[in-house]
Amino acid sequence: MSIQENIERVQERIREACRRSGRRPEEVRLIAISKTFPAARVREAYQAGLREFGENRVQEAAAKIAELNDLPISWHLVGHLQTNKTKRARELFHWIHSLDSVRLAEKLHQAARVGERLPVLLQVNLGGEETKSGVGEDEASGVVEEVSRFTSLDLRGLMLIPPFFEDPEAVRPFFRRLRQLRERIRASLPHLALPELSMGMSHDFEVAIEEGATMIRVGTAIFGRR
Ligand SMILES: *Cc1c(COP(=O)(O)O)cnc(C)c1O
Repeated sequence: MSIQENIERVQERIREACRRSGRRPEEVRLIAISKTFPAARVREAYQAGLREFGENRVQEAAAKIAELNDLPISWHLVGHLQTNKTKRARELFHWIHSLDSVRLAEKLHQAARVGERLPVLLQVNLGGEETKSGVGEDEASGVVEEVSRFTSLDLRGLMLIPPFFEDPEAVRPFFRRLRQLRERIRASLPHLALPELSMGMSHDFEVAIEEGATMIRVGTAIFGRR
């Protein structure tokens, strides 16, 4: 299957999941995760209509973004960001999904130029997995409050990389918990809208949409196996 056919299939799956859950497809943004794939594949996906792409490593992204600088692409960082790469990350990306500490927020803030405001999402680790970044459920509200004080960061919501389960239904409780966590944070910090929930990947994005995802991060189903 071509990238264009893959994208059409993904968009059909998004429409179906929206129909089942009474949502509008425009509420769900498809972020194509292009890590490990060359710029030429990204260009194909762009020509098939996609405008938002995600990468998980700053260095790999830098080369690709340079090669594609003739295209008005919105670039999302979805992988862990080291504090010594915050300046580079601010130059390259339009969104950071993987904000995972107050210290990182502070470094991103210090790397800002006057007037700049960078949309970010707070990554939450709901599985308590040691190998994954993200703040714990209990500390999330406090971190949101602290991060929201950095004027050069625009905190738009939460992001989740759930534990892996073969069966997408097994992931549903994690997606639901992220949404409920967002509701609780909103209730305690009503000045923050936190409209975005970044959750759902190739094998479970339909369930994520049913549970309220506004951004899904899809790699394999678009570009093929890595
Ligand atoms: C690789 C990656 C994805 C995409 O995963 P697929 O299963 O290939 O769709 C989504 N989110 C993050 C953070 C990733 O690193």
